[in-house]
Amino acid sequence: MDLFEHQARQLFEHYGVLVPRAEVADSAPEARAAAERLGGRVVVKAQVRAGGRGKAGGVRLAADPVAAYLTARQILGMDIKGHTVHRVMVAEPVEIEREFYLGYALDRAAGRFLAIASAEGGMEIEEVAARRPEAVARIPVDPDEGVTDAKAAEIAAAGGLPAEAAPTVRRLWRVLTEQDALLVEVNPLVRTRDGAIVALDGKVTLDDNARFRRPRAYAADTADDPREAEAAAKGLNYVKLDGHVGVIGNGAGLVMSTLDVVASRGARPADFLDIGGGASAEVMAGGLALVLGDPDVRSVLVNVFGGITACDAVAEGIVRALDTVTLTKPLVVRLDGNSAARGRAILAARAHRLVHQADTMDGAAARAAHLAA
Ligand code: GDP
Ligand code: MN
Repeated sequence: MDLFEHQARQLFEHYGVLVPRAEVADSAPEARAAAERLGGRVVVKAQVRAGGRGKAGGVRLAADPVAAYLTARQILGMDIKGHTVHRVMVAEPVEIEREFYLGYALDRAAGRFLAIASAEGGMEIEEVAARRPEAVARIPVDPDEGVTDAKAAEIAAAGGLPAEAAPTVRRLWRVLTEQDALLVEVNPLVRTRDGAIVALDGKVTLDDNARFRRPRAYAADTADDPREAEAAAKGLNYVKLDGHVGVIGNGAGLVMSTLDVVASRGARPADFLDIGGGASAEVMAGGLALVLGDPDVRSVLVNVFGGITACDAVAEGIVRALDTVTLTKPLVVRLDGNSAARGRAILAARAHRLVHQADTMDGAAARAAHLAA
């Protein structure tokens, strides 16, 4: 699981890594109040699980609390790489003298960790590595030996980081190992005008296999989309995507191929929703309500191949959903396999003007793509 920047920041702080003073805010008035407490001039940062927020306009300097209010209003609700911004972090601005990059990642093939360090921080490290590979140092770290003072000094030197960054290099290693993380990335790690080494950004990916050891981290706002949280609560396998065709199917393989077919019809899927094998009418109704509630969705494609899940149960779920939510978006349904004829008859009997049936997956995708256009 990826942590939000503000969660990573808290972990860093706990391990003695310097971070700017900051608060999280869910609304513009809260951002203004936070700015007042932080001394007025602040940086307002979108909290989404995606990098490149700066480039997308999700990291902005505000000169005073009123500017922080206005900036937060602009950033909240913004879409960054398909992630809607629901929170901002309001931070004390840092006077940057120089930006560096430091990361630890798991090198699965080699069975060890890799420290990645560079004096070209602030930019996307993949770009730097592609353009000037010699500017990015990759130092293997044996998990049993870990990062000692000597190793930290070696990593800093190899990456062109100042020697005084070594203690931070070591502390970030502790974050990785003691918090069961697979990735810890600080970009930029900066040296400030007054010589301090500060983590100005933070990305931490926790190892889900260790979830049982970190119930708190997982309980605290795990989903960056409220619909993902709702789906998790309903036991649905849902991922928000950035297109406009809502996709619902049974079985991850079928849903993935449905995404491909939608894409081949020139449309972009708005989500991945697998209602699973053996789904009941209730699960179908819950899934449909979830997808219809997404403002990005313009049409919904339900693609079910009845196996353990019978198509008549799916059709009943759709009918039940039609009774509880007012359908304002067209729904294209393709039912095949177990009890398909009964399922189709149930939908035909309901005769809703926004519900269209299609015989094939391709035909259904073409229809849904057309309706979303
Ligand atoms: P990202 O774009 O998602 O990686 O977000 P970052 O947190 O890395 O912020 C993007 C860029 O904004 C950084 O590389 C910095 O150059 C700049 N930035 C962020 N916070 C501050 C700050 O406190 N002071 C200054 N001067 N620049 C900042
Ligand atoms: Mn960054």
